[in-house]
Amino acid sequence: MERKRMGAEPVLYLVIPCYNEEEVLPKTAPMFLEKLEALTAAGQIRPESRILFVDDGSRDGTWQLIQAFSEKEEWIKGISLSRNRGHQQALLAGLMEAKQFCDISISIDCDGQDDIDAMDKMIDAWYQGAEVVYGVRDDRSTDTWFKRNSAQMFYRFMNLMGAECVYNHADYRLVSRRVLEELEHYQEVNLFLRGMFPLIGFQSTAVSYKRAERLAGDTHYPLKKMLALAFDGITGLSIRPIRLITGAGALFSCLSFLGVLYAILSALTGNAVSGWTSTMCVICFLGGIQLLSLGVIGEYVGKTYLETKRRPRYIIAERCGR
Ligand code: UDP
Ligand code: MG
Repeated sequence: MERKRMGAEPVLYLVIPCYNEEEVLPKTAPMFLEKLEALTAAGQIRPESRILFVDDGSRDGTWQLIQAFSEKEEWIKGISLSRNRGHQQALLAGLMEAKQFCDISISIDCDGQDDIDAMDKMIDAWYQGAEVVYGVRDDRSTDTWFKRNSAQMFYRFMNLMGAECVYNHADYRLVSRRVLEELEHYQEVNLFLRGMFPLIGFQSTAVSYKRAERLAGDTHYPLKKMLALAFDGITGLSIRPIRLITGAGALFSCLSFLGVLYAILSALTGNAVSGWTSTMCVICFLGGIQLLSLGVIGEYVGKTYLETKRRPRYIIAERCGR
């Protein structure tokens, strides 16, 4: 295919968040390095390209490992956050750091689950004019049954609740500097990056790849964190839950009008005393709905509170590499 973009090759930064990954990093860091060297040798990217590891406040030897890599290899750089802030914040810190040096960035997990060979296709797509290229998993056969199905439910639920996101796309994606500069203007604290890039716009496309098994160590996304991410995604991107509550409120108002009619009718026909059961049912049911609604609204109020503080979303404690 003929390239649409002419001129010099891009400087690529691989942005890789790591949290307690000392087991897997010694295996995957050489893979990333090899990939970068191969891409440079093929004339796809410039030699100033780098791997940027973001240590998300790990408690194990991850940061020491990254420092050691960066001393040995000039291709490798690192930043370390002042404490564990979570995957999304770590990724944002890395992308904002990379923005100063790169033409294109590719974010990828450090555990080797995402196929690094898909990068070739991503860069090709960039040469064709795309500013954002989503990596999409087309095969989850190596995930456990539970992970596969819970992840599927995650995407369904997200879309149902109005938080649009690319199906089966995690955070393996190419983003050009132009888009990163726009991302900087999105100042929210509740981050759900994969839902934000579609909002930013620009020409985008997707490439598919097979998801492999984690090379070592355990997942840091147990069900609890996944639910938290879904919650942040939904309440951060959409107000559909509040609309649903309004809808439910309207529906139950109509139903209770019927209930009142029924109560009056039974009073007129002389059956009023035997109404205890139905009264209890209605009270319980509506009480439940009210509590649930208050909870959802409270969630948004809480989010607003957090956003108004305008706290920094991450703090970089240290840097390494040239
Ligand atoms: N991660 C992070 N901070 C966290 C949790 C995870 O930077 O608090 C990183 C982790 O090191 C990995 C990526 O986010 O590179 C994805 O995590 P993981 O592989 O555990 O999730 P899964 O692939 O199982 O969904
Ligand atoms: Mg993983």
